[in-house]
Amino acid sequence: MKKISILGSTGSIGTSTLEVVRHLGEGYEVIALSTRQNIDLLEQQIKEFRPKIVSVSDPQKAQELQKRLPSQEILTGIEGAIAVATHPETNLVISAMSGVIGLQPTVEAIRAGKNIGLANKEVLVSGGEFVMSLVKKHNVQLIPIDSEHSAIFQCLVGEDSQNIRRLILTASGGPFRDCTATQLEQVTVEQALKHPNWSMGAKVTIDSSTLMNKGLEVIEARWLFDIPSDQIQVVIHPQSIIHSMVEFNDGSIKAQLSEPSMLIPIQYALTYPQRKPGILPPFDFLQSEVLQFHLPDTVKFPCLALALNALKAGGSFPCTMNAANEVLVDRFLQGQIGWMGIGNKLEQLMSRHSSVNIGSIKDLFDIDQAAREEAATI
Ligand code: MG
Repeated sequence: MKKISILGSTGSIGTSTLEVVRHLGEGYEVIALSTRQNIDLLEQQIKEFRPKIVSVSDPQKAQELQKRLPSQEILTGIEGAIAVATHPETNLVISAMSGVIGLQPTVEAIRAGKNIGLANKEVLVSGGEFVMSLVKKHNVQLIPIDSEHSAIFQCLVGEDSQNIRRLILTASGGPFRDCTATQLEQVTVEQALKHPNWSMGAKVTIDSSTLMNKGLEVIEARWLFDIPSDQIQVVIHPQSIIHSMVEFNDGSIKAQLSEPSMLIPIQYALTYPQRKPGILPPFDFLQSEVLQFHLPDTVKFPCLALALNALKAGGSFPCTMNAANEVLVDRFLQGQIGWMGIGNKLEQLMSRHSSVNIGSIKDLFDIDQAAREEAATI
């Protein structure tokens, strides 16, 4: 029996996870759910899946939901999210909160010996080395849900990682792939929120439009698969049919292909190491007779280069970059800065940063906080 806790159950990954649980039926039980503030949707989820505990980060919203459902155990704050992540009955935690706020509950779940289905990329971007050392120490499975990493994870089944020559991460290129520099200066929030292939939350959709998302994914892949950054390549593949590839040292390349739908990597994480019949109809190759590939333009999309540089610089650079990017994306969504401002301001912040040692989760939070304060005012 897979007994599941979902951190971020009302977001895009959370609702799709529940769709897959509903589809899989027997053998899957929802133990605990958490949300930031969407209590209307959480209320429906409670009625359908009957979790033992739920948590609402926003304390006022938690109180409001408690009034509606007096007999349901409802927790709040970061402690509530940690209780969801570490519930004694849970054996698989889907980590799908948006942003670095998901780091601590995920770390506590690992410490409690839970297997993790990881959709929150900030966990490994900010705390890669630290988090992976805990995964080894507590001997838990870390199963990626991000489509690219799920693709690589699936390609590596039965393989010896010694034989990897390259990981090839595909990127759709986002909505502004073919824009000129002048057009990029006039990008609106509405345009940036329209992804051509994927339907996702706001933060990751904006990150996809700047290619920061791919940068974060390279960092995530470096830690998840323990591969040096110079063996990870990014390729633009506008059709989003090949989700990523692995090249082995004999020259053979394995790729994972499917419809661009998160239902597939989510289901793989839930059924791993098995497979079960999926939700989508069989894939029709004849509908995608052209698959294109080209290199990313890091001049038009500086965020990708900034992320790769942060990974090479190591230390506190990735954590700082990730936190600053989160704030800048938020400022763009609020209409305070332009789309180009995200990359330009991030570049200034990164050039000022000097690395700090990371010895604990507290160090990560201090670095994260300092970067946020700087990014809020630059
Ligand atoms: Mg992805």
